Amino acid sequence: MEIGVPKEIKNNESRVGMTPAGVLELTKLGHKVFVQSTAGDNSGFLDEDYAASGAILLPTIEELYAKSEMVVKVKEPIEKEYSLIREDQVIFTYFHFASNRALTEAMIQYKSVCIAYETVQDASGALPLLTPMSEVAGRMAIQQGAKYLEKPVKGKGLLLGGVPGVRPGKVLVLGAGTVGIQAAKMAAGLGAQVTIMDVNVDRLRHVNNIMPSHVVTEFSNEYNIRKHIKTHDLIIGAVLNTGAKAPKLISRNMLKEMEPGTVIVDVAVDQGGCIETSRPTSHEDPVYIIDDIVHYCVANMPGAVPHTSTLALTNVTLPYVLKLAAGWKTACSQDEALSKGLNIVKGKIVYEAIAEAFGWEE
Ligand code: NAD
Repeated sequence: MEIGVPKEIKNNESRVGMTPAGVLELTKLGHKVFVQSTAGDNSGFLDEDYAASGAILLPTIEELYAKSEMVVKVKEPIEKEYSLIREDQVIFTYFHFASNRALTEAMIQYKSVCIAYETVQDASGALPLLTPMSEVAGRMAIQQGAKYLEKPVKGKGLLLGGVPGVRPGKVLVLGAGTVGIQAAKMAAGLGAQVTIMDVNVDRLRHVNNIMPSHVVTEFSNEYNIRKHIKTHDLIIGAVLNTGAKAPKLISRNMLKEMEPGTVIVDVAVDQGGCIETSRPTSHEDPVYIIDDIVHYCVANMPGAVPHTSTLALTNVTLPYVLKLAAGWKTACSQDEALSKGLNIVKGKIVYEAIAEAFGWEE
């Protein structure tokens, strides 16, 4: 098959859909891989690395779409790319159709086969192509939180890990899913005292089994949250109710109960945030302060570490790319998880939730 990897053109997107390691695996199997020149630069993968793995470098995105039977990328095609997409061409990427009517209509119009990373779902219900980005965000939440606890950026002026003779900081993690567990692990590794809360006792049981004893679990309810926000230095919002807006666990009034300089990192901001005062921010301007509480609410945290994020993403997408390279119909009929990724096929929506999102008949 002829497979294309374009340079991402969405604003501030530095990841790339395939690394030279992926190119090597595909070319070994006899596939042809086209990579747009400089596509991997921002993730640390240079044209010469791709060429050494057997890729054919193409200078323009137009040429790349024209030559490829399947396009593997990271973000949804943006308007400029719509008309480059051809009938029957397979596009494997994050789409998030339900929140983007223009994109949905364009993909219907251009009759491509759209396989969305975010809906590939295994038998346990897990979303394997979303997990790595949650892992990145969870770990990064502590890195960012620790930085904003510093005085010059209006934090408490506290070193999260403490020093001998001085107590370490306290971290409260709301939600014990992928983001929450990675955040708790990083905070514990720095020596912080960690409290992690969830409404799912099985999640807390799991955390209790795998974490060191300075990570304490507690059931998530308003009473317990009110108790802990008074004493914790860094609060991580990591809750998710699948398909719904995040529940608001900390109200504006509750900010007054916290010590000035407390830092909130609301990772769940991409689902509306679990703090009433959260609003999405960007890497250029990541924080704002309300009632002396520092809010970090970047909605695309993995975008700041494209080298790590590209590797983490392509580790999990490549096995599916290898299957799709043998033909999408065969691949989807043999792999149920992958078949759940089919969203739009040749002008027809085949994923119920997307049709429902726009009130359309399937
Ligand atoms: P997950 O499903 O693995 O975990 C969410 C957890 O929240 C679950 O264990 C659930 O039981 C728990 N929860 C639900 N209601 C709760 C409540 N009231 N109190 C405490 N816990 C509650 O989800 P995840 O992969 O960890 O993702 C968490 C959030 O982070 C999502 O909104 C996701 O979209 C977001 N995210 C953001 C970024 C970013 O860059 N900002 C990156 C990746 C993920």
